[in-house]
Amino acid sequence: MTGSTTRTTAVHVRVPAKVNLELRVGPPRADGFHSLATIYQAVSLFDTVSVTPAEDWQITLSGRTTEGVPADAGNLAVRAAAALAEAAGIRQRAAIRLTKEIPVAGGMAGGSADAAGALVGCNRLWGLDWPLDRLASIAAELGSDIPFLLHGGTALGSGRGEQVVPVLAKGTYHWVFALADGGLSTPAVYAECDRLRAGTHVPEPRPSVGLLGALRSGDVLDVAECLGNDLEPAAISLAPKLGDVIEEGLSYGALAALVSGSGPTVAFLVAGREAAIDLSVALVSTGVVRDVRRATGPVPGAQLDGGAAS
Ligand code: ATP
Repeated sequence: MTGSTTRTTAVHVRVPAKVNLELRVGPPRADGFHSLATIYQAVSLFDTVSVTPAEDWQITLSGRTTEGVPADAGNLAVRAAAALAEAAGIRQRAAIRLTKEIPVAGGMAGGSADAAGALVGCNRLWGLDWPLDRLASIAAELGSDIPFLLHGGTALGSGRGEQVVPVLAKGTYHWVFALADGGLSTPAVYAECDRLRAGTHVPEPRPSVGLLGALRSGDVLDVAECLGNDLEPAAISLAPKLGDVIEEGLSYGALAALVSGSGPTVAFLVAGREAAIDLSVALVSTGVVRDVRRATGPVPGAQLDGGAAS
């Protein structure tokens, strides 16, 4: 218990989505997870998490993308807030409102973003004043991507993705994200990856020296050449249309394309703002995809309204 007092007014936190510039997947571990080496980048598609004091946990949803998001205690934002209350030994509860813009089940870590936002918001609401690293240890128990979304920027993730260290990255990267009609279940994509690789030697994952060097120099063409995702064949195997979306986007001038995380969102890296608009128009007007989002990265992780995370 801390001596701090709970605020009575709402606390608002803006949290970004992520794209994996590189996702290397090792063999399955004894605990069922896979060891990963991944380079995350936080991008400018945001959910907003608002928290206010309440007698019991409450969750309400609004925004463009709420289909399939649980509106009960199963929501990752509620679970994160409850885990923080428990770890801090306090009895406070919160009403959590999510305004969702991040595609759901799209491989952009929307649920993890909301969990990161709930941790940062409740930390402020309850006057805990815990540093980010302490919040990150709770985050890591709840989901592999959550620690990264507390920090944001561009970072190397290891372990199952929950151990993050910042990566030196120059420049701003312009992205077009092609949204798919349905979602893909992350466990199903990993299972398909294991199935496709059965009988082959899968080495321990390592980040590519080439990508780290390209990010240091800020050369977008070099970065484009080094993007890669070991889950892509599995995502395409489960959702074959993704292969067509990738080909179409490349034919319309994207510098590179890859499935975002476990998919089914496809991420296109483009040369700049104009190229992003051109590609978006081409993909939607030709009917290749139903909807797109443009974003830039890197951006910071979970931010309190009007300032930093803690
Ligand atoms: P990741 O890339 O982290 O594997 P994702 O981006 O593919 O995840 P999410 O949008 O995080 O997928 O949603 C995955 C599932 O998590 C959803 O289908 C939903 O059932 C559940 N979920 C729980 N809480 C949330 C939340 N706050 N927002 C979105 N989904 C949530």
